This record gives sequence, structure tokens and C-alpha cells, in this order.
Amino acid sequence: MTNSPIQLQPAWPTSGNLLRHKWINRFLRSRWYPAIIQWPTLMIFGFIMFQLLLGPQAAHDNFGTALTWVLWWPLIPIIFLFVGRFWCAICPFATINDLVQKFVGNNRPVPRFLKKYGIWIIDALFIFITWSDHVWGVVENPFGAGVLMLALTTGVIVSGSFFERRTFCRHVCFLGGLSGNYARTGMLSLRGTPEICKTCTAAACYKGTDKAPGCPLFEFPKTMTSNANCVMCADCIKNCPNDSIQLTVRPPTKELWFIRKPRLEEAFLSAVIMGIVFVQNATMLDVWGSILKWLEQVTGTTSYYVTFTITFVMAIILPVALLSLASGVVSKINKATFIENFARFGYAIIALDVAVHIAHNLFHLLAEGKSIVYTALGLFGTDVHGASPAILDMGTIQVLQFGLIALGLIGSLYAVYRIARSNYSKGQVWATFAPYAVLMVVFTAMNVVLFSLPMAMRM
Ligand code: SF4
Ligand code: SF4
Repeated sequence: MTNSPIQLQPAWPTSGNLLRHKWINRFLRSRWYPAIIQWPTLMIFGFIMFQLLLGPQAAHDNFGTALTWVLWWPLIPIIFLFVGRFWCAICPFATINDLVQKFVGNNRPVPRFLKKYGIWIIDALFIFITWSDHVWGVVENPFGAGVLMLALTTGVIVSGSFFERRTFCRHVCFLGGLSGNYARTGMLSLRGTPEICKTCTAAACYKGTDKAPGCPLFEFPKTMTSNANCVMCADCIKNCPNDSIQLTVRPPTKELWFIRKPRLEEAFLSAVIMGIVFVQNATMLDVWGSILKWLEQVTGTTSYYVTFTITFVMAIILPVALLSLASGVVSKINKATFIENFARFGYAIIALDVAVHIAHNLFHLLAEGKSIVYTALGLFGTDVHGASPAILDMGTIQVLQFGLIALGLIGSLYAVYRIARSNYSKGQVWATFAPYAVLMVVFTAMNVVLFSLPMAMRM
């Protein structure tokens, strides 16, 4: 038994370690956390699957479609902003992984190729799933969305049967990759206390104890510098014999200001996400039909596979190419290599990514939000066809969208400035900042144009 260095305070702390608040501490240490949220989520997931696969096959009548794409998908980036990757602690796929592992798991170590190339697999899966959504209509087709969920469930069952902890979540899940990137903007930070951890040899947080398993995402709070792979499951809080874990509130995007080991593939993903939001917006525009017609004339084919794939590839290449261009220019100024600059400053795009992702989904949430109620009423035989699904009018939604994009731009610009300041000498900071600042302004301008055009409804 060790003496706890943490003094519980009855009042809500305004700064510092949230675990000093006795109710937060008790809740996170309780054996009911996160199970009390995990199990209802799994049950709702089961119901959604039933609806998607066996419910009405028109998207605007399907309650599973409304819950998934009008409520859950828009809310998820907002959750990342406030509580980091917490969604992954209660995600039904993770719960299925844990159940399979408990009963038939082999607990083999993570294959080396997954450790090395996992993030590229995530990048590729993310691109493929977004592409397939557009050409096979996953979102518009409840059965298609159900099949996608079944495919993910199969992947998680296979992973849970063979490999240890949450191998799937850490190294394969495309949503996990997106979550990891977005969680860097999150306002909650979990870390070990360096002075306590440095004398610790138990590593109970990583290995686990009889109180809770070791970190499911293979993180070691002693050396953790990022929240990208912390799902706030609180297992380490329960396990640490020295009460070393601290849960603190930080300014949003703070983690982007200094990434200790920037990785090319993560920076690449942040640029790709920007391209994917371009595609998502472009295909919802009223002018999308005219763009397709023009592409059909240019390519000489009416195949949607061809025309959409051309648009998709161009939309993804564009932000990667622009980031490459800025990195090429900057490497002549600050003498760091192109790859170093690309990897370091690519993370700064994440703030804008999150903002435009939320702004895009705000349209679904606020322009189609009532469809959740209408489809729920449909379950009881009440037909509300013809009623507007909008919660707010389009003008108000656009004001909110532009406000979010402006915040994202500020976040990305400030991240660029902090990255430049922490990596380069005083004389190089502004010269390094300028090309990336132009890049962020260009991304913002492109989004402003897209968001100002009329969009088509999904439901
Ligand atoms: S968090 Fe606790 S168990 Fe983990 S290294 Fe630090 S002191 Fe040890
Ligand atoms: S670091 Fe702690 S809270 Fe974060 S995922 Fe690992 S065990 Fe859970």
C-alpha cells in the first residue's frame, strides 16, 4: 500500500488535475466505468444493425440511418474536441473485441507489419471506405451501411480472436485513425506525473493488475506525449499503485503545437482528410450534376465509377500537393528536409480538418435533425412524410459553419506559428510561418466557397 500523493478536494477544480475532484475520481475508478456507457451503446448498436439490415430500405424512413448519419456521425468530431478519443472507450466494436478476446482470445502479439504499416493501412482503408460510400451509396442505402458495419464487426472478431488487447482499434480501424488525429485537438489530457513515474518499476498501468487490464491501446502513461491513442478508459487510473495519473484540461489544439515525433503518415492523413471533406461537400452541391456532365464529356464515358474516381483522386491529391508545395518552399528557407517540414506542419491542418468536418456535419444535424424523430415515429406506424426535417434555417446554419471555419483557421495558423517557434531559430520563424499560413488561408477559402453553395439533403 502506498500513500496517495493526490489530495481529494470537495470543490470543482478550476485548473490542474481533475482527478482531485472526488466525484470524478470515484466515477473513473469505479468498476462501473466505462461499462455503464459501454453496454447501452452496444445495445443501441444492435438495434441500429437490425434497422439497417432488416428495416425500411429508403434512407429517409430508416431510424438506423438517421441515428448513425444524422446524429452519431455529426456528434463524433465534437466529442473529440471536448473529451479526446473517449468514443473509442465505449465503441461497440471495441466492446465486441473485448468480449471475443475474453472467451476465445489467443492474445498473440501484434504482427510486426501492423505495427510498422498500420497507419498506412488505416489511411488506405479510410480512402477506400469514403470512395466506396460514394460509388456504392453506403450512406443512402441502409443495407449498404449495415454490410459495412458487419464487415467491421468481422474484422474486430478476427482481431480479438487472435491478437492481444485492442489491436484492431490501434492498428486497423479507419475510424480509430481519424479519432487519433482529431483527439490531438481535444481539451482533455491524460498523463503520468513524471516525478512519480520515473522511480516506478511496476508499470502496472501498461501491464494491468487484478483491478483492470493493461492499457488496451498499448500506451504507457509514463512516456505518453500524445492523446491520439488514449481512449480515456481509466484502466491506468485504476491500476497505478502510485496515483500518478493526471487528467488535465488544456486549450483545444494545444497538442498540435509540439509533436515530439512527427510521422509522415499521420501528416499525410491530415491532408487527406481535408481532401475528403472537399469531396463530401462537392458531391452534395446542387452543381454536382453539372460537374459530372462536364466530366462525362471530357472523359467520353458516362461511368460514375470513372467520373467520381477522377474527382475523388483530384480532391485528395490537391491538399497533399499544396502541403508538399509549401514544404518544398519552406525547406529552402529553414534548411530542414522536405519530409521533416511536411511531417511537422501537416499536423497543423488538423485544427481546420476538425472545424470543416464539424461544419459539414452541422448541416446534416441541423438541416436534417428532425428526421431522427420522424423515423422513430415511423417505427410506431406514424407517417410524417412531407414535414421539414430542419431544426434551423439554412442562413443560420451557414453563419455557424463560417464561424467554425474561422475558428479552425485560427487554430491552424496558431499551430503553424507554435511549430515554427519550437523548431526553428528566431530569424526563421516568420519566414517558415508565411508559406504555411498562405496554405491554411487557401484551404479556408476553398471551404468557404464550397460551404456558400446550396447543398442537397441526405435524408
Ligand atoms: S502511471 Fe503509475 S504504474 Fe504507470 S509508470 Fe507511472 S507510476 Fe508506474
Ligand atoms: S492511457 Fe490509460 S486511459 Fe488512456 S487508453 Fe491507456 S489505460 Fe486507458
